[in-house]
Amino acid sequence: MVQFCDMVKAPRIETVLHDLGEMMRACCACGHRCGVDRAGNATGFCNTSAKDLHHAAYASHTLHFGEEPPLVGRGGSGTVFFAGCNLRCVFCQNHQISQGGLGENMHYTDLARIFLRLQDQGAENINLVTPTHYVYPILEALLEASRQGLHLPIVYNTNGYESLELIALLQDIVDVYLPDMKYMDAAHGLAYSRAEDYPSVAKLAIKEMFRQVGPLVMENGVAKRGLIVRHLILPNNLSNTYDFLLWMRDEQMEPATISLMSQYSPQFRAHEFPELCGRVSRSEYREIVKYAIDLGFEHLLTQGLDSSGLYLPDFRRDEPFEAGEPLDAGEPLDAG
Ligand code: SF4
Repeated sequence: MVQFCDMVKAPRIETVLHDLGEMMRACCACGHRCGVDRAGNATGFCNTSAKDLHHAAYASHTLHFGEEPPLVGRGGSGTVFFAGCNLRCVFCQNHQISQGGLGENMHYTDLARIFLRLQDQGAENINLVTPTHYVYPILEALLEASRQGLHLPIVYNTNGYESLELIALLQDIVDVYLPDMKYMDAAHGLAYSRAEDYPSVAKLAIKEMFRQVGPLVMENGVAKRGLIVRHLILPNNLSNTYDFLLWMRDEQMEPATISLMSQYSPQFRAHEFPELCGRVSRSEYREIVKYAIDLGFEHLLTQGLDSSGLYLPDFRRDEPFEAGEPLDAGEPLDAG
């Protein structure tokens, strides 16, 4: 049977791969704009460890039930984790794979097989985690899998530090964008992620994502298309949450879904920064949720404050996540 994906996405990916190959010759996939020849195996800030442009450093895949409920549905999110990262977040909870060197070289044809296996296992989507520095082999894998019947929505699960040029290329390939908005203050981007222009780069990328896919479109309780912006609330207001919400409102993005994450706990190198060693209190979180509601946001996903331990993965295990409660669907919106 010819699948929807074959008819629509495969030709688009074929076209994009040509332009993306050009981009890789002087890489500007993310805000670092290193300009290195990735096709010639040069490495930039992300220090990619794959052996050529057709391989990705793969870390793990799983049916994940701890993602935001619109991504989980009944079957779970078909989550594929890539190793390495273009940021250096000092509190990264995935630091084993993002900065710690865990991961293996995988050819795009093997990656395609993983996508199809997740679909066979009942996944609701293919959820690509930290994909940007391996976007070329990922698109090759999506093309291969689409030709073999992959028809699930594609979720682009990213830190938000993508160039506008890259996001433009992903139009009509990505169905659900799931970017972080980590900081609104350039000094924090530099101090905690080594990307001083994080706020300006992520703002442009998120606006383009919303232009492409708009608000969430749900079908049988699962997102088929749209934007969910993740915002991890840091202690001492280091994530400038109120400014983030005001920015979303000023850009008329109230119809988008916001995942207000309370799960922060000091991981990895956070102990080197005293201001990052705390946690968000119940009253701080309630105040933030109330502020978002008062600003007019209707599509909020919230978390219980006791959830921080539920989302800490260990990538040395076959199943990095313990079975845990999913994120709340937003019941406590009337936090008072
Ligand atoms: S993905 Fe970003 S960090 Fe990596 S080489 Fe390209 S521009 Fe540099």
